[in-house]
Amino acid sequence: MSRNSRCYSKLRFCIRTFQLGLWLVASTASLSYANTTSLSQDEAFVAAWQDLQVLADDKMQGRAVGSAGSKLAQDYILAKYAALGLEPVNGSYRQSFIHDFSLGKPLTGANLVGMRRGCVNPEHIIVITAHYDHLPISGRQIFNGADDNASGVAGLLYLAKKSAEKCPAYSQLFVATDGEERGLFGAKAFWSKWPQQQNVVLNINLDMISRGEKSSKLYLAGRRTFPQLSELAEQVNTAGYSVKLVLAHDQRTPLARARTTLEQIDWPNASDHAIFRRAGIPYCYYGVDTHPQYHTVDDDWQRIEPAFFQQALAIIATGWQFADSQPLAVYQQLRKEPSD
Ligand SMILES: [Zn+2]
Repeated sequence: MSRNSRCYSKLRFCIRTFQLGLWLVASTASLSYANTTSLSQDEAFVAAWQDLQVLADDKMQGRAVGSAGSKLAQDYILAKYAALGLEPVNGSYRQSFIHDFSLGKPLTGANLVGMRRGCVNPEHIIVITAHYDHLPISGRQIFNGADDNASGVAGLLYLAKKSAEKCPAYSQLFVATDGEERGLFGAKAFWSKWPQQQNVVLNINLDMISRGEKSSKLYLAGRRTFPQLSELAEQVNTAGYSVKLVLAHDQRTPLARARTTLEQIDWPNASDHAIFRRAGIPYCYYGVDTHPQYHTVDDDWQRIEPAFFQQALAIIATGWQFADSQPLAVYQQLRKEPSD
């Protein structure tokens, strides 16, 4: 997830200073490793847990745009796409773009796009996004971005696996985006080049879905664009999960331990769903709250509680099926004119 985008574009240094502050706080806390002995034998979850750990390994070096670690992450995700039987679009899974961050030199980013054709409304598309990029190495410090956002990419691959079990109603476009952290560059590039914008009915965005262990809450934003989400929350919250699905994050809130008004999360613009929202497309954005390891070197997979992650994935799969079961007329009614 990217912090206040205005801060990024105009005051890049303020983020670096703030990261250093958070790191100093976090590095004094003792590490408590997650209990990994309670893993379920649910095959899809076991695969997702492994995907998360691989993507958050030191070898991936934080998966920053244009880095060697990013290339390794791309190769890993694309091998998964092929194994899961996703179809390339226009002959390739990889869609490159120029990542022209205002204060840095232009880099080449790559979105990873794979399709599963639907069986009821194949011409209409649900776009599932999760960014795989995170932050560059700083000195010897690697920002592994386990929650942000190896977790979301593992969730995207989890849904891709689920979509192979039973043909979905709508075509599902899986887009692992690059360049999210510095201003949603990947999602912008994807959307500007996507030839069938009118056929996109919904965006499901996964960004930071694994670190809700303290509150046992998973947040879902987007109800202003998709009021039927209230029905989904009721369905999930009466289904016996110990994790609660909370409809929230539809406006700005202060960052945890914020010291200035700049340090806030502008949730409607905080991640890739913003591009779809501005295009007038309803969205579902699943995520946890910010936490002390957010954008620090301590966002490691060992801090993730597998039981929370497993329930979050099961809830997200329920939400994905709920979205896929909506009649086309519902989405046609929800579509709005583009706005800011
Ligand atoms: Zn982030």
